[in-house]
Amino acid sequence: RPRAGIVVTGSELLTGAIPDRNGPWLAERLGELGFEVAHLLIVGDRPEDLADALRFVADAGAELIVTSGGLGPTADDLTGEVVAAFAGVDLVLDEDMQAHIAGILARWAARTGFGGPALEAANRKQAMVPRGAVALDPVGTAPGLVVSRPGGPLVVVLPGPPRELEGMWPAALAAEPVAALLARVPRAQARSLRYFGLPESEIAATLRELESQLDLSAVEVTTCLRHSELEVDLRPRPGAEDLAEKLAGELVSRHAKHLVSADGTSTDELVARALLDGGLTVATGESCTGGLLAGRLVDRPGSSSYVAGGVVAYSNEAKVEMLDVPAELIDRHGAVSPQVARALADGARARFGADIGVGITGVAGPDGGSETKPVGYVCFCVTTADGQVISRDPVLPGSRSDIRERSVDLAMHLILR
Ligand code: ATP
Ligand code: MG
Repeated sequence: RPRAGIVVTGSELLTGAIPDRNGPWLAERLGELGFEVAHLLIVGDRPEDLADALRFVADAGAELIVTSGGLGPTADDLTGEVVAAFAGVDLVLDEDMQAHIAGILARWAARTGFGGPALEAANRKQAMVPRGAVALDPVGTAPGLVVSRPGGPLVVVLPGPPRELEGMWPAALAAEPVAALLARVPRAQARSLRYFGLPESEIAATLRELESQLDLSAVEVTTCLRHSELEVDLRPRPGAEDLAEKLAGELVSRHAKHLVSADGTSTDELVARALLDGGLTVATGESCTGGLLAGRLVDRPGSSSYVAGGVVAYSNEAKVEMLDVPAELIDRHGAVSPQVARALADGARARFGADIGVGITGVAGPDGGSETKPVGYVCFCVTTADGQVISRDPVLPGSRSDIRERSVDLAMHLILR
């Protein structure tokens, strides 16, 4: 596979103030397009660091480099200049672009009342384009760039705000010479398998065993844990598609019990489909997850068709008053108990008139654990209008936020049952 590199700029990403969203997003897109992303570098706003990063990625054999950030009007936005120097050309004023940006800024000034000379200088700066480069229409006010370095990689320069970067991506792919490069890159059809409750070591052992029977060197296999699921990606080299299919078939049948999906479909999507197809609604009664499950459920567009509602019943009083959990049940078994989880599920179902109720109550820690109910002990219950009951009460590992996130992951899987 041809190599690509990503260089993300912004000092705010190196202080830990905000996490980088563009690098992972670009890495996924480039992988889908058939590139091997060899490097993802994050550099601050010092031009010499950006220049070093571009050289490093190019020397490592990247045919395509994508940069993020530093295209704005302020003094620390220097990506255009640095990329021009990297390509060995100077910056020239693109008058069409200047007029275009002026129009955008004028509309913005009319709306906000800001404007004046500072804005005009900003306009001019953003319309400076490396000679010979293709300028991409702004999504915000900054145009993107496609810059070719003779004999070297293509550089696609995108703005930092994720909305702008993602919005500009289709235009960047359509612009020449990017489109011509893409046409030469074979699309490796990656196949993703997802498992829940399967340790990574099990997959590793299976792969080792299969390796002794099949020559797997033509299929790149990567595994990663996310949302408590083990995702196994199989990426065949051109011509090795059949081998990847065979391997996928083996992995599916050998670990069928833990398989969530064999085509990369996410659990959230499976839950949504199951509820939609069944014409079912769900309601939540959450204690330790404090609404995270409801938030996860409504994260998908269209969720109003199947999410009835949810109650965060954190205190005992809330459990009793909002969800009709019998106070006597809490006294007898404790607020964290399978009995109360079931009452939360039934209470939520009744309160919202839903088909499915989900109750969660647990000890998220770090305090409040006991010998019988340690930190991480979480009780789950899913009940349905037709009388089905699914209960679980595992001890989940990790920090307070790990426990709360894992609880939501597990609850999503229980809804799927
Ligand atoms: P402009 O300054 O015109 O908004 P720009 O291309 O100069 O565009 P930056 O100055 O690098 O962009 O970033 C602007 C803001 O966008 C940052 O303060 C940050 O909030 C957000 N941002 C930039 N890069 C990233 C990133 N990699 N991940 C998440 N957010 C980012
Ligand atoms: Mg900026």
